[in-house]
Amino acid sequence: MDKPTEMPTTDTKAERHKQRQQKLKAGVDAKIAAAQDEKGILLVLTGNGKGKSSSGFGTVARAVGHGKRAAVVQFIKGAWECGERNLLEGAGVTFHVMATGFTWETQDKQKDTAAAEEAWLAAEQLLQDESIDCVMLDELTYMLSYHYLDVDRVIKALQHRPPMQHVIITGRACHRAVIEIADTVSEVQSVKHAFDNGIKAQPGFDY
Ligand code: ATP
Ligand code: MG
Repeated sequence: MDKPTEMPTTDTKAERHKQRQQKLKAGVDAKIAAAQDEKGILLVLTGNGKGKSSSGFGTVARAVGHGKRAAVVQFIKGAWECGERNLLEGAGVTFHVMATGFTWETQDKQKDTAAAEEAWLAAEQLLQDESIDCVMLDELTYMLSYHYLDVDRVIKALQHRPPMQHVIITGRACHRAVIEIADTVSEVQSVKHAFDNGIKAQPGFDY
Protein backbone atom coordinates (compact mmCIF):
# COMPACT_ATOMS: atom_id res chain seq x y z
CA MET A 1 0.00 0.00 0.00
CA ASP A 2 1.19 3.52 -0.82
CA LYS A 3 2.54 5.53 2.02
CA PRO A 4 0.21 8.51 2.69
CA THR A 5 1.75 11.87 1.68
CA GLU A 6 2.92 13.71 4.69
CA MET A 7 0.96 16.87 5.53
CA PRO A 8 3.23 19.90 6.06
CA THR A 9 3.34 20.84 9.70
CA THR A 10 2.52 24.35 10.86
CA ASP A 11 6.24 24.82 11.49
CA THR A 12 7.36 23.96 7.95
CA LYS A 13 4.60 26.16 6.49
CA ALA A 14 5.72 29.09 8.62
CA GLU A 15 9.34 28.45 7.61
CA ARG A 16 8.43 28.42 3.90
CA HIS A 17 6.44 31.62 4.31
CA LYS A 18 9.41 33.24 6.04
CA GLN A 19 11.78 32.19 3.25
CA ARG A 20 9.44 33.54 0.56
CA GLN A 21 9.09 36.85 2.39
CA GLN A 22 12.87 37.12 2.86
CA LYS A 23 13.39 36.59 -0.86
CA LEU A 24 10.76 39.21 -1.67
CA LYS A 25 12.31 41.67 0.75
CA ALA A 26 15.77 41.14 -0.76
CA GLY A 27 14.35 41.94 -4.21
CA VAL A 28 12.58 45.08 -3.01
CA ASP A 29 15.63 46.22 -1.03
CA ALA A 30 17.84 45.82 -4.10
CA LYS A 31 15.43 47.94 -6.16
CA ILE A 32 15.29 50.61 -3.47
CA ALA A 33 19.09 50.67 -3.30
CA ALA A 34 19.32 50.98 -7.09
CA ALA A 35 16.85 53.91 -7.27
CA GLN A 36 19.10 56.73 -6.14
CA ASP A 37 18.29 59.58 -8.51
CA GLU A 38 16.17 62.55 -7.56
CA LYS A 39 14.53 64.76 -10.12
CA GLY A 40 11.33 66.57 -10.88
CA ILE A 41 8.75 64.01 -11.94
CA LEU A 42 6.32 64.50 -14.77
CA LEU A 43 3.20 62.61 -13.70
CA VAL A 44 0.29 62.00 -16.07
CA LEU A 45 -3.07 60.87 -14.67
CA THR A 46 -5.29 59.87 -17.53
CA GLY A 47 -8.06 57.40 -18.42
CA ASN A 48 -11.85 57.40 -18.23
CA GLY A 49 -12.31 56.47 -14.58
CA LYS A 50 -12.90 58.78 -11.64
CA GLY A 51 -9.85 59.76 -9.61
CA LYS A 52 -7.50 61.79 -11.81
CA SER A 53 -7.92 65.31 -10.46
CA SER A 54 -8.48 64.15 -6.90
CA SER A 55 -5.25 62.15 -7.05
CA GLY A 56 -3.43 65.18 -8.46
CA PHE A 57 -4.74 67.39 -5.68
CA GLY A 58 -3.73 64.71 -3.17
CA THR A 59 -0.17 64.96 -4.46
CA VAL A 60 -0.30 68.77 -4.23
CA ALA A 61 -1.46 68.38 -0.61
CA ARG A 62 1.53 66.11 0.00
CA ALA A 63 3.87 68.75 -1.34
CA VAL A 64 2.29 71.39 0.90
CA GLY A 65 2.52 69.02 3.86
CA HIS A 66 6.28 68.95 3.35
CA GLY A 67 6.50 72.74 3.24
CA LYS A 68 6.85 72.83 -0.57
CA ARG A 69 5.40 75.49 -2.83
CA ALA A 70 2.72 74.38 -5.25
CA ALA A 71 0.52 75.98 -7.89
CA VAL A 72 -2.46 74.79 -9.90
CA VAL A 73 -3.73 75.82 -13.32
CA GLN A 74 -7.22 74.55 -14.14
CA PHE A 75 -7.85 74.34 -17.84
CA ILE A 76 -11.57 73.87 -17.58
CA LYS A 77 -13.81 76.42 -15.99
CA GLY A 78 -16.12 74.16 -14.02
CA ALA A 79 -19.66 75.16 -13.22
CA TRP A 80 -19.01 74.09 -9.61
CA GLU A 81 -16.64 75.53 -7.09
CA CYS A 82 -13.80 73.16 -6.39
CA GLY A 83 -13.44 71.93 -2.80
CA GLU A 84 -9.71 71.42 -3.16
CA ARG A 85 -9.27 75.02 -4.24
CA ASN A 86 -11.09 76.26 -1.14
CA LEU A 87 -8.78 74.20 1.03
CA LEU A 88 -5.45 74.54 -0.76
CA GLU A 89 -5.60 78.28 -1.40
CA GLY A 90 -5.82 78.65 2.36
CA ALA A 91 -2.60 76.64 2.57
CA GLY A 92 -0.77 79.00 0.20
CA VAL A 93 -1.29 77.17 -3.12
CA THR A 94 -1.89 79.60 -5.99
CA PHE A 95 -4.71 78.75 -8.40
CA HIS A 96 -5.21 80.01 -11.89
CA VAL A 97 -8.59 79.01 -13.23
CA MET A 98 -9.45 79.48 -16.86
CA ALA A 99 -11.53 82.61 -16.66
CA THR A 100 -13.90 82.22 -19.56
CA GLY A 101 -14.47 79.92 -22.45
CA PHE A 102 -14.04 76.21 -22.44
CA THR A 103 -16.59 74.23 -20.49
CA TRP A 104 -18.24 71.06 -21.67
CA GLU A 105 -21.02 73.15 -23.20
CA THR A 106 -18.81 75.41 -25.31
CA GLN A 107 -19.39 76.07 -28.96
CA ASP A 108 -17.15 79.06 -29.53
CA LYS A 109 -13.76 77.86 -30.72
CA GLN A 110 -12.18 81.28 -30.95
CA LYS A 111 -13.15 82.22 -27.42
CA ASP A 112 -11.94 78.84 -26.11
CA THR A 113 -8.60 79.15 -27.87
CA ALA A 114 -8.07 82.59 -26.34
CA ALA A 115 -8.97 81.27 -22.87
CA ALA A 116 -6.63 78.29 -23.30
CA GLU A 117 -3.84 80.58 -24.43
CA GLU A 118 -4.30 82.84 -21.42
CA ALA A 119 -4.26 79.91 -18.99
CA TRP A 120 -1.24 78.41 -20.75
CA LEU A 121 0.69 81.67 -20.32
CA ALA A 122 0.16 81.31 -16.56
CA ALA A 123 1.35 77.69 -16.80
CA GLU A 124 4.44 78.71 -18.77
CA GLN A 125 5.39 81.22 -16.11
CA LEU A 126 5.11 78.57 -13.40
CA LEU A 127 7.17 76.17 -15.51
CA GLN A 128 10.00 78.73 -15.48
CA ASP A 129 9.78 79.48 -11.78
CA GLU A 130 12.36 77.61 -9.72
CA SER A 131 10.64 78.57 -6.49
CA ILE A 132 7.60 76.42 -7.36
CA ASP A 133 8.20 72.79 -6.41
CA CYS A 134 5.02 71.30 -7.81
CA VAL A 135 2.76 72.44 -10.66
CA MET A 136 -0.59 70.81 -11.37
CA LEU A 137 -2.04 71.32 -14.85
CA ASP A 138 -5.56 70.06 -14.29
CA GLU A 139 -7.47 68.95 -17.42
CA LEU A 140 -4.64 70.10 -19.70
CA THR A 141 -5.11 67.08 -21.99
CA TYR A 142 -8.30 68.52 -23.53
CA MET A 143 -6.47 71.65 -24.69
CA LEU A 144 -4.33 69.38 -26.83
CA SER A 145 -7.11 67.08 -28.05
CA TYR A 146 -9.14 70.10 -29.14
CA HIS A 147 -6.05 71.73 -30.71
CA TYR A 148 -6.45 74.81 -28.55
CA LEU A 149 -2.76 74.60 -27.68
CA ASP A 150 0.19 73.58 -29.79
CA VAL A 151 1.64 70.29 -28.56
CA ASP A 152 5.26 71.21 -29.40
CA ARG A 153 5.01 74.34 -27.34
CA VAL A 154 3.65 72.40 -24.38
CA ILE A 155 6.35 69.74 -24.67
CA LYS A 156 9.09 72.37 -24.89
CA ALA A 157 7.91 74.17 -21.75
CA LEU A 158 7.69 70.87 -19.85
CA GLN A 159 11.16 69.82 -20.95
CA HIS A 160 12.77 73.15 -20.08
CA ARG A 161 11.24 73.48 -16.61
CA PRO A 162 13.49 73.59 -13.53
CA PRO A 163 15.03 70.12 -13.11
CA MET A 164 13.63 69.54 -9.62
CA GLN A 165 10.10 70.75 -10.37
CA HIS A 166 7.32 68.15 -10.29
CA VAL A 167 4.45 68.50 -12.74
CA ILE A 168 1.09 66.73 -12.65
CA ILE A 169 -1.08 66.62 -15.77
CA THR A 170 -4.62 65.30 -15.60
CA GLY A 171 -7.35 64.59 -18.13
CA ARG A 172 -8.64 61.87 -20.41
CA ALA A 173 -6.94 60.75 -23.63
CA CYS A 174 -3.53 62.27 -22.99
CA HIS A 175 -1.56 63.09 -26.15
CA ARG A 176 1.08 60.42 -26.83
CA ALA A 177 3.85 63.02 -27.10
CA VAL A 178 3.20 64.01 -23.48
CA ILE A 179 3.07 60.37 -22.39
CA GLU A 180 6.42 59.80 -24.09
CA ILE A 181 8.23 62.45 -22.06
CA ALA A 182 6.44 61.64 -18.78
CA ASP A 183 8.17 59.73 -15.96
CA THR A 184 5.06 58.21 -14.42
CA VAL A 185 1.79 57.60 -16.22
CA SER A 186 -1.29 56.13 -14.58
CA GLU A 187 -4.46 55.28 -16.39
CA VAL A 188 -7.57 55.30 -14.22
CA GLN A 189 -10.00 52.76 -15.60
CA SER A 190 -13.72 53.06 -15.01
CA VAL A 191 -15.23 49.87 -13.65
CA LYS A 192 -18.48 51.59 -12.68
CA HIS A 193 -19.60 55.09 -11.77
CA ALA A 194 -22.53 56.19 -9.61
CA PHE A 195 -23.54 58.72 -12.27
CA ASP A 196 -24.57 55.88 -14.57
CA ASN A 197 -27.13 54.91 -11.94
CA GLY A 198 -28.65 58.38 -11.85
CA ILE A 199 -26.63 59.68 -8.91
CA LYS A 200 -25.66 63.28 -9.37
CA ALA A 201 -22.24 64.81 -8.71
CA GLN A 202 -22.13 65.82 -5.06
CA PRO A 203 -20.16 68.67 -3.48
CA GLY A 204 -17.48 67.46 -1.10
CA PHE A 205 -17.19 64.19 -2.99
CA ASP A 206 -17.13 64.81 -6.73
CA TYR A 207 -15.90 68.40 -6.67
P1 ATP B 1 -12.15 63.46 -9.78
O1 ATP B 1 -12.10 64.97 -9.84
O2 ATP B 1 -13.33 62.99 -9.00
O3 ATP B 1 -10.86 62.85 -9.41
P2 ATP B 1 -11.57 62.95 -12.54
O4 ATP B 1 -10.67 64.12 -12.52
O5 ATP B 1 -10.96 61.59 -12.70
O6 ATP B 1 -12.51 62.97 -11.26
P3 ATP B 1 -13.03 64.21 -14.70
O7 ATP B 1 -13.17 63.61 -16.05
O8 ATP B 1 -12.16 65.40 -14.54
O9 ATP B 1 -12.64 63.04 -13.69
O10 ATP B 1 -14.49 64.53 -14.23
C1 ATP B 1 -14.82 65.29 -13.13
C2 ATP B 1 -16.24 65.00 -12.70
O11 ATP B 1 -16.84 63.98 -13.48
C3 ATP B 1 -16.33 64.49 -11.26
O12 ATP B 1 -17.52 65.00 -10.73
C4 ATP B 1 -16.39 63.01 -11.39
O13 ATP B 1 -17.11 62.37 -10.35
C5 ATP B 1 -17.12 62.83 -12.70
N1 ATP B 1 -16.63 61.61 -13.37
C6 ATP B 1 -15.36 61.17 -13.44
N2 ATP B 1 -15.27 59.99 -14.09
C7 ATP B 1 -16.53 59.69 -14.47
C8 ATP B 1 -17.16 58.59 -15.17
N3 ATP B 1 -16.42 57.56 -15.61
N4 ATP B 1 -18.50 58.64 -15.37
C9 ATP B 1 -19.22 59.68 -14.93
N5 ATP B 1 -18.73 60.73 -14.24
C10 ATP B 1 -17.41 60.74 -14.02
MG1 MG C 1 -10.54 65.90 -13.48
